Formats: sequence, structure tokens, C-alpha cells
Amino acid sequence: MRPTGKLHIGHLVGALENWVALQSEFDNYHLIADYHALTTNLDTSDLYQNSIDMIIDWLAAGIDPQKSPVFRQSQIKEHTELHLVFSMLITTSRLERNPTLKDQIRDLNMESVIYGHLGYPVLQSADILLYKGDVVPVGEDQVPHIEITREIARRFNTQWGQVFPEPEPKLTKFARLAGLDGNQKMSKSIGNTILLSDSPEEIQKKMRTAVTDTLKVRKNDPGRPDVCVVFSYHKKFNSPEVPEIRSGCESGALGCVDCKKNCSTKIADTLAPFREKRAYFESRPNEVIEILNHGESRAQHVARETMKEVRATMKIG
Ligand code: AMP
Repeated sequence: MRPTGKLHIGHLVGALENWVALQSEFDNYHLIADYHALTTNLDTSDLYQNSIDMIIDWLAAGIDPQKSPVFRQSQIKEHTELHLVFSMLITTSRLERNPTLKDQIRDLNMESVIYGHLGYPVLQSADILLYKGDVVPVGEDQVPHIEITREIARRFNTQWGQVFPEPEPKLTKFARLAGLDGNQKMSKSIGNTILLSDSPEEIQKKMRTAVTDTLKVRKNDPGRPDVCVVFSYHKKFNSPEVPEIRSGCESGALGCVDCKKNCSTKIADTLAPFREKRAYFESRPNEVIEILNHGESRAQHVARETMKEVRATMKIG
């Protein structure tokens, strides 16, 4: 995950819950992709603090750092070394066909693409294969990158000898949480988020701005829950009451103000243990840095071993 600072509830349902669940089944590696952040933003002044804020969110969501190392990409030099080798195994035209890149160019109104952004999936391949990852928990937008990773692994193995697995994407069940403004994606860059660290009061305040069914103008007008962002949050954070909310909305008995209040309370309740754990880590910065140091030395060890094998297989000593 790129360090964009404090995480939102979309990150929780789209990634973190899945990661936490997978911890019992797999040996997870959790990478803070700080070099990747440079592809769209060269201002590094907040990069470190954003990384720390993000780790605190991960820990608060239940990532167990003893079991699953957390580390920064920039601190393990083998990522850049393997990236260089991998960059010889893929053509620029293959990277230009990447649909995720095309979407980003459109969404960010980019006039031209820097070399590092074009090569984003190549660095990502190094991130995955350095740890010989065979399963990568991702959202749908990342599937083309996993395909590129598989192609690179295959090409390396054919060219020089078997070193890497061909990783499979493991799609999150809950693919995308919509933003408060009705945009399909809750996202920090759009500014339509509820943060995992928001207080109950902040959640209530933000929820008041949420877009509902625009045809439900007065309290007792019948509404269409399936086009309402607030209803999509109920489905995730308040599932037992969903049938009642659907019928209340459709009949006009339930107004948006009450529905939003109820939804905010349920989200705030779900996040209560998270906020408590977050406060614990926030007040112990040294503990967080120790966790990071520990994760980085474990990742470093694995990365060094893989690069030794890569060099031996390529016969470059
Ligand atoms: P980002 O910080 O936007 O690069 O997101 C990192 C990961 O978090 C993505 O690959 C998704 O798995 C997940 N994610 C981010 N935003 C959302 C969202 N609105 N809904 C569901 N998952 C999300």
C-alpha cells in the first residue's frame, strides 16, 4: 500500500480486513510502497510521517507485526536491484497497454507519463517476487499488475533458471466502497472519505454531507436504497438492520436524516476498538519505530537471500 497518510473505511473493507484474516493462513509481508508514491507526487516532505500514520492504522486494524513483517520499500535496497533486472524482461509497449495505467492517465488528466510511472508494475513485480510471494491480496484494479508479475517471473525462469513462483491475485470479496459524494470510490485524493481515526462526532458531521437518492426530496418520499451511498454503508457496517432500512426507505417511513444518524453510530461503534488501539500506538512512537525496525530486518534477510539466488542463477556472482 502506498503511504498516503491516515487510512479510510474503504481501505478497511477493501484491504485490511482481508489481510488480517489471511494472517492465520499465510506468511504475510506488508510493504509500505514509499518509492511508488513518487510516481504521482515528488513532494517527499510528508512521506515518513504518512508511513508512520499508515503503520499505526495497520496495527490498529489487527496486523500482527510479530507474525507479518511491516517494512518500507525504500529501506530494502534489493527492491531497486531486482527492479533493474526485471526491467530487461518486459517491453515498453507491453507496459503501455496496461489498463490500470490508462485509467490513471485519464483520471489524473496526465499529459505525459514519467518513466517510473510506466515501470510501476515492474517495481511492483520486484516487491512481490523478492519475497517469492505466491498469493497477492489485491483489488480488481491491480489484477493487470499481477499478470505482468507472472509474465516477468516466467521470463526470468525461462531465461536463466527457476527461481520465482507465478503469483496469483487473491481478490477481496468487498471490492469497492463508494465515497460520501456518491463517487464510486472512496479516496483521499477525491476528499470523500471517513477516516478510520475519525471521532464519532466527525463521522456524524461527514455523514450529513453524504449523497442519498436525489429523488427522495422530502422525509416521507419513497427512496431507492440501491442508489444510495448511505445504504451501501449500512450493508457493510449494519447488516442486521438492512431489511428494515430497505423497507423503511422504500415506503417513505424512514427519512434520510435518521437513517444517516443511525449509520454514523454503527460505523463509529465498529471503529471504537480501532480508535482505542490507534490511540495506544500513537502515544508510543518508539514502539512503532521498533516494530518497523524489526520488520525491516526480517524483510532484509529474505530479500538478501533471494538476490543471492538471482545473481547465482544469472551467473553474475
Ligand atoms: P490506495 O491507497 O487507494 O492505493 O489503496 C490501497 C488499497 O486499498 C487498494 O488496492 C484497495 O485494495 C484498497 N482500497 C482503497 N480505496 C478503497 C475503496 N474505496 N474501496 C475498497 N477498497 C479500497
